[in-house]
Amino acid sequence: MGEPVSLAEGVNVIHGELRGRFPYAHALLIQDDMTVLIDTGAGDRPLGSVPATPDVIINSHFHADHTRGNRLFPDAAVWAAAEDAPAIRSEDEFVTRAGYTRMGPGRARLMLDWIEHAESRVDRELAGDEVLELGRRKLRLIPAPGHTPGHLAFYLEREGILFTADVDLTSFGPWYANPGSDPDQFEDSIRRLAEVPARLIVSAHKGILREELPRRLEMYRAVIDARDQRCLELLARGPATLGQLARHWPIHGRPLQPGWLYGTWERIMLEHQLVRLQRRGLVRAGEDGRMERVAGA
Ligand SMILES: [Zn+2]
Repeated sequence: MGEPVSLAEGVNVIHGELRGRFPYAHALLIQDDMTVLIDTGAGDRPLGSVPATPDVIINSHFHADHTRGNRLFPDAAVWAAAEDAPAIRSEDEFVTRAGYTRMGPGRARLMLDWIEHAESRVDRELAGDEVLELGRRKLRLIPAPGHTPGHLAFYLEREGILFTADVDLTSFGPWYANPGSDPDQFEDSIRRLAEVPARLIVSAHKGILREELPRRLEMYRAVIDARDQRCLELLARGPATLGQLARHWPIHGRPLQPGWLYGTWERIMLEHQLVRLQRRGLVRAGEDGRMERVAGA
């Protein structure tokens, strides 16, 4: 953490507390005729030192580590993708979409307190895939669903700066543990972002990246394939229920504590992974409800 870091004239990264680790995230401030702050989960102290007051906040998606600080800028308009807007406005909608109801009694409140969730108005619902004229520069919105349905990335064409939000390039991702997440969409989004001729990426949890951007994106995408392989190897031993598969942690690769949190994420991501493998014709649900490999596939 520290002072905002300038990437180009009028473009600053606001580094999140805990070096941007969840429940914090890095943010991007773009000062132009219209000043835009992308994401507000950096923490109260970093957000208190932004070099200009935003006219507009754009939340990359509905997660609290990207929306929590909207309340710090009461005069700013809040924009977000139409798909994610309901979960920014409503705590109940957030809890459902975040899958907290699956973590056991009392856990939703525990999670909401930990992430310091705060409801926010959304003044404009974005369609995605549009270019915003900020004044001297254009900000291209790039739909990048998979992490959440309305997840957006952002490209400043003139500066070659790509804000990938939670296509975050961390070793923990790609993360698709919401009931509405989708690893196939996530994979398509990574590929779409790899086509952007960026000279620099800002990831919400990894920060500023300048080197080997296409290779890093491809390695990140390949993690989804590695998870496919671990599931297929387990199923090569014979049919198994989702619970039996989850006990081997094929998504995270190793057991993580606390189990009520990471175990729930493992199960949700495993469900999505098995849907992905079924779409590819590699796995099917047997008559007894157990998952099995498709012979010859
Ligand atoms: Zn997120």
